[in-house]
Amino acid sequence: MAVADDETDALSDARSLEQALLGSILATVPDALIVIDLRGLIVSFSAAAQRMFQYAESDVLGENISMLMPSPDRERHDGYIDHYRTTGERRIIGVGRLTSARRRDGSTFPIELSVGEVQDQGQRLFTGFIRDLTERQQAERRVADLQAELAHAGRVTAMGTLASALAHELNQPLTAIANYLEAGRDLLAADGPIDRALLGEAMAESAAQALRAGEIIRSLREFIKRGETVRQPEPLRELLAESAALAFIGVDSRGIDMDVSVDKGVGRVLVNRVQLQQVVINLVRNAVEAMQDRPVRILRVTASPADDDRIEVIVADSGPGLDPDMSRTLFTPFNTTKATGMGVGLSISQTIVEGHGGRIWATASSWGGAAFHFTLDRADEA
Ligand code: ADP
Repeated sequence: MAVADDETDALSDARSLEQALLGSILATVPDALIVIDLRGLIVSFSAAAQRMFQYAESDVLGENISMLMPSPDRERHDGYIDHYRTTGERRIIGVGRLTSARRRDGSTFPIELSVGEVQDQGQRLFTGFIRDLTERQQAERRVADLQAELAHAGRVTAMGTLASALAHELNQPLTAIANYLEAGRDLLAADGPIDRALLGEAMAESAAQALRAGEIIRSLREFIKRGETVRQPEPLRELLAESAALAFIGVDSRGIDMDVSVDKGVGRVLVNRVQLQQVVINLVRNAVEAMQDRPVRILRVTASPADDDRIEVIVADSGPGLDPDMSRTLFTPFNTTKATGMGVGLSISQTIVEGHGGRIWATASSWGGAAFHFTLDRADEA
């Protein structure tokens, strides 16, 4: 008896030491730890999780974990668990993933999520370690910005070279046209009968030179087209969610109600990933800036099937809407209403979308703000 009691005591000592150790780890580990059960309900919410998501543990215990996710995961998470339960196929367990999370105030932030599975006396639980990437990505973003600036400087130099080559090439036919037309004008102004043959020749020559100028521009276009980047099938849902997460880096996103929703019928699109990200980032950042002083800040990114086997993406906000004076020059470079704006974001976005064979345009959103629409080619059969 005494021996057995000693063993029990030793066991419970070990247990409580384990508990204390676990408690101390959970209280100090900088990553958030959330434990959920097989139904997706929260059973444990660490101190770091409480700071990260702005909820007290008592607010979330027993609630569905999906409350901490932005769309589309929020609506789909129950389905993800069901899928794992019925098929045993692991999509996230054991692998880290870059995704977005949602704070109490509705704002979204980038996270790295690692999910594990625990079996405890027949009960299955899932553990999620969450690292807030806002700061790390801010640092990476700064490096990327610097690189972009360098690339931009490179492009400006290349453009400068191109522009002077073009000016040089075009100068010749334009000078010739001016000379022929001036000669024609002098012929018409001269006293006596008009030398029709000579006048005809001057006009024919200037027409030929104008065509040559057009040819130079056309070949330049061809040249630029050849530099086109590779497009490949990309899943639109992930691309939009990731771009939105990227757009929020370094931006004060508190109080913004953000949602990405992609129609069921939308699969992959044929795009250059980096370029498309650039378009979405431009539009999302414009929307965030437009809503800066607004009491209600709603941002919706949606994608749905459009005509001609296309997909239409809409970035809509609840900002003040488009300045009527800007509406005609919205996509023209160097047009901006912002004190520090460059006015090139929309023109770059237009170049990219049109380079993909799509169209971009703006309308009013249902909250009186702006809605930017663009179309992309499907990569899969409808
Ligand atoms: P920038 O952001 O540097 O001004 P853009 O080309 O991205 O350059 O935008 C041009 C202009 O279009 C902005 O200055 C602004 O007036 C208008 N605009 C763009 N997006 C929005 C929006 N979501 N709501 C209201 N106005 C917008």
